[in-house]
Amino acid sequence: MELKNLLDEFEANEKTKAALGHAMGVLYYDGNTVAPKKSDAVRGETVGELSRMMYELTSGPEAVARLKQLIAVKDSLDAVTRRRVELLEREFEEISCIPVDEYIEFVKLKTRAMNVWKEAKEKNDYALFEPYLKKLFATERRFALLRSPDSDPYETLLNGFERGLTVKTCDNFFACLKERLVPLAAKAAEKSRSTDDSAITCEYPVALQREFSDYLMDVIGLDRDRCVIGETEHPFTTGFTKNDVRITTHYYENMPAASMYSVVHEGGHALYELGIADELTGTNAGSGVSMAIHESQSRFYENIIGRSQAFCELIFPWMKEKFAPRLDGETPLSFWKMVTKVEPSLKRTEADEVTYCLHIMVRYELEKRLIAGELDTKDLPAEWNRLYKEYLGIDVPSDSEGVLQDMHWADAYIGYFPSYAIGSAYGAQYLREMMKEFDVWECVRSGNIAKINAWLENKIWRFGKMRDPGELFESICGPLDPTVFTDYLEKKYC
Ligand SMILES: [Zn+2]
Repeated sequence: MELKNLLDEFEANEKTKAALGHAMGVLYYDGNTVAPKKSDAVRGETVGELSRMMYELTSGPEAVARLKQLIAVKDSLDAVTRRRVELLEREFEEISCIPVDEYIEFVKLKTRAMNVWKEAKEKNDYALFEPYLKKLFATERRFALLRSPDSDPYETLLNGFERGLTVKTCDNFFACLKERLVPLAAKAAEKSRSTDDSAITCEYPVALQREFSDYLMDVIGLDRDRCVIGETEHPFTTGFTKNDVRITTHYYENMPAASMYSVVHEGGHALYELGIADELTGTNAGSGVSMAIHESQSRFYENIIGRSQAFCELIFPWMKEKFAPRLDGETPLSFWKMVTKVEPSLKRTEADEVTYCLHIMVRYELEKRLIAGELDTKDLPAEWNRLYKEYLGIDVPSDSEGVLQDMHWADAYIGYFPSYAIGSAYGAQYLREMMKEFDVWECVRSGNIAKINAWLENKIWRFGKMRDPGELFESICGPLDPTVFTDYLEKKYC
């Protein structure tokens, strides 16, 4: 086949896959925001059928023949096309080793599991969800072994979210964090014990909180013509193209900070997707490269920017006026103390910046053991509760507030959790690099978040998947160094 024809077919195939991905993304967003409860079965069928088409488009005989031809001429292609072929090759390797029926069955299982998880969480009934969880872990383990028979299956799963990440790196990383964070958390909690946060734990009407979300989206520079906000149980972000990115939040009447930091967190994810170079739009390189890089954006905005004194100074006047009289008598500094209060707690998504990674450590340890077959899903709640006591010093009163709190495992996101902690540590290293070039806090204080966005866009966002995550990070910050993160926390909290 002539090269031009080959590339035309490649483009057409990619376009069809992008359209299917778009449709599945909308269904996912719909299912997690406004769709009625009983829609899960039919949605599962639809997504299953769309997945079958997607599978064909990647692993069908025509697709395989074309991929072989593309690989043969790879070196003669321009950099972007070559990279797209490489990504397609990886996608093929990942998917083609799994029999199509099993693949579709798994997609349907995930949709069902998600709904059962919601019900189990609502009813505090772990036993309802346990058979699904067992199946999800067993299938993920089997798929990992099909993909890479000689590797540790957990490492294969880690690589699905963060290419190049090893169990050894994670073990060393978490060991370093644990050593510094456990005493640091105790010290910081002691220091903030006297902080009175009653001004942000009283009633904040949801209607006003919605206005606040709009304001925050503007403050961090989200283009509202390309990004909207919806409401869900567990906030997430999904991007279909750089012209359509959706964030979500959850409002609690007595906890305005919960939604506030969800919006800033998800806003960080959205900024990344919105900032990808135009030339990559619609291609398989046109989204964020990995979950740790993604979480490094969201956690950077949530904590490093959003929980800085400068950010509190920036937004406090708006809050004081709109939420009057709730913040009368308070100052930006007292507000900052409230939102940086350190206190071991039950919920990961509402954890403070210092104890957050201890929540991740619990999940990392448990999922690793579940995949290794060293722990049974039946014993999971007891182990969960034991580790919460050991790492955070707290008792877990119910499974809803414990092992059932996150949606990740219901979605078969096994190997995802470490991304949050590694992403948090990446953020501290971005800050260090940024500070060499300009005064980050001055920018935040004056509302010039655009300068920070431009730095990240130039160094990270625009590349999409053009570079692998480790290479991308190291080109900006050098190797991952958890002590930069723990030093940052110590300086801020102790
Ligand atoms: Zn996130």
